[in-house]
Amino acid sequence: MADVHTREQRSRNMAAIRGKDTKPEIRVRSALHRLGYRFRLHRKDLPGKPDIVLPKYRLAIFVHGCFWHSHSCRYGQVQPATRSDFWTNKRTDTMERDKKKALALEQLGWTVVTLWECETKDAEAVSVTLRKIIEQQQAQMPSEAGKDDQEQEPQDA
Ligand SMILES: [Zn+2]
Repeated sequence: MADVHTREQRSRNMAAIRGKDTKPEIRVRSALHRLGYRFRLHRKDLPGKPDIVLPKYRLAIFVHGCFWHSHSCRYGQVQPATRSDFWTNKRTDTMERDKKKALALEQLGWTVVTLWECETKDAEAVSVTLRKIIEQQQAQMPSEAGKDDQEQEPQDA
């Protein structure tokens, strides 16, 4: 496939590579904001400094650029025509790092969610996805982490 990698795409990829405060990330933040959830950004005390965390739900969210993190979508599967080995290695390293970060967070009891750049284009869809993820997480959380209810669940054997 010769000409898949257009100039437009290339500059998009470059933007994704810069990492912090990318547009997709900002779109996710503003969706959370609108939904009224509290979150923190780039917490340095957590493995991999997740892009966004919702401490109350023990939810760590990574917002990944499709190219850089090799998403299975068409943006993620682009093969640069030049320096392809360089890019392949870079992207493989990134995926390895992503896996390690997720594992380290999970071992600390965090639930790790990855949102892809291509999934953040539609603001309404982002809100729906986030709400679904958070509600699901809330339902799975141990009761003491949920509401202010101090009562213990009855312990039937
Ligand atoms: Zn994608």
